[in-house]
Amino acid sequence: MSGAKLIDGNVIAAKVLEEVSVDTAKFRKSQGRSPGLAVVLVGEDPASSVYVRMKIRDCGKCGIESFSHKLPVETTTEELLDLVDTLNRDQNVDGLLVQLPLPGHINTRMILDHIDPAKDVDGFNPKNVGKLVRGDEGVLVPCTPAGVMRMLDEEDVDPRGKNAVIVGRSDIVGKPMALMLLHRHATVTICHSRTQDLAQVCRTADILVAAVGQPLMIRKDWVREGAVVIDVGMNSIGPEDAPQLILNDPARVADFEKKNYTLVGDVSPDVAEVASLITPVPGGVGPMTRALLMANTMKAAQWRKE
Ligand code: NDP
Repeated sequence: MSGAKLIDGNVIAAKVLEEVSVDTAKFRKSQGRSPGLAVVLVGEDPASSVYVRMKIRDCGKCGIESFSHKLPVETTTEELLDLVDTLNRDQNVDGLLVQLPLPGHINTRMILDHIDPAKDVDGFNPKNVGKLVRGDEGVLVPCTPAGVMRMLDEEDVDPRGKNAVIVGRSDIVGKPMALMLLHRHATVTICHSRTQDLAQVCRTADILVAAVGQPLMIRKDWVREGAVVIDVGMNSIGPEDAPQLILNDPARVADFEKKNYTLVGDVSPDVAEVASLITPVPGGVGPMTRALLMANTMKAAQWRKE
C-alpha cells in the first residue's frame, strides 16, 4: 500500500520544456537564430547513443538547434580537444556537452577542463564547479541535481532547516546536490560506501536523496515517517534479480515479458508506505535531468548574448 504522493517527473519536465520553448521563440525573434546545443559522442556505447538521441530529440521539441558530432572510438584526447576548441569558437553553439563516459584512453578531466565555462551546460567545468561551491548566481550547474531542486520547489518542499541526507558523493550528482541543498539552508549529510551505519544516518533525513547505483538498496525501515524521498538511481535488473515486490507489479512483469529487464531506482518500492513524497523510477528524476539540459542551454544562450 502506498501512502506517499508520487512526484511526477514527466509532468514537471513538460512544464520546464514549455518554458524553454517560450524563451527560445523570443531568442529567435531577437537574435535571428535558435539557441544551439552541440553534443559530442565518442564511440558506440549503446546507452550513451540512446542518451544522445534523446537529447537531440528534446532540442527539436523546444526550439533548440542541435549539432551532433559522432567520433570513432579510437579518437585521441588531442583530436577531441581540437573539436572542443572549434565548438568553443562557433558562435552558433551556445551549449556544448561531451557525452560521458568517454573511452578509457581519453583524458576525461582534460576534456571537461577545456570546455568554455560559458557553454558548459553539464556544469562539470572546474570554473562552474567552483562558482557552485561559492554559491554564485548565474552559474551553469549539473542538470540532475538542478532537476531535483526544481521538483522540490514544485512540491513546495522548502529545504531550509531540514535534515537532508544524500547517499552518493559523485561529482555529477551527490556533491552538487549537497551544495544546492546547503545553499538553500538544509543541514546536509553526504554518505558513501565507507559510511558506517548507513541505515541509521538515512533515518535522520527529512529529505533523502539516493544516488548510489545499487538497485532498491534503500529500504522502508531506513526511512523516517513523512520523509521526502528522491530516487536518482537508474538500474536495469532482470527477473532473476527482482525481489517479490517488483514481481508483484504488473507493469514490471510486462517489462520483463517485453524486454527481459526493468528499470528500477536505488529505493525499494515499499518506502512509499512511509514517505510523504517520492519520485518514481522511471518517470522521476530522469526526465527532469533531460529537461534541465534544455533549460541550461537556453540560459547559456541568454547569458552569452548579454
Ligand atoms: P557513481 O557510481 O559515480 O557514484 C555512486 C556513489 O554511491 C559513490 O559515491 C559511492 O561511494 C556510493 N555508493 C556505492 N555503493 C554504496 C553503498 N553500498 N553504500 C553507500 N554508498 C554507496 O554514480 P552516479 O552518481 O553517477 O550515479 C548514481 C546513480 O544515479 C546511478 O544509478 C546512475 O545511473 C543514476 N543517475 C541517474 C541520473 C538521472 O537522470 N536519473 C543521472 C545521473 C546518474 P564511494 O564514493 O565511496 O565509491
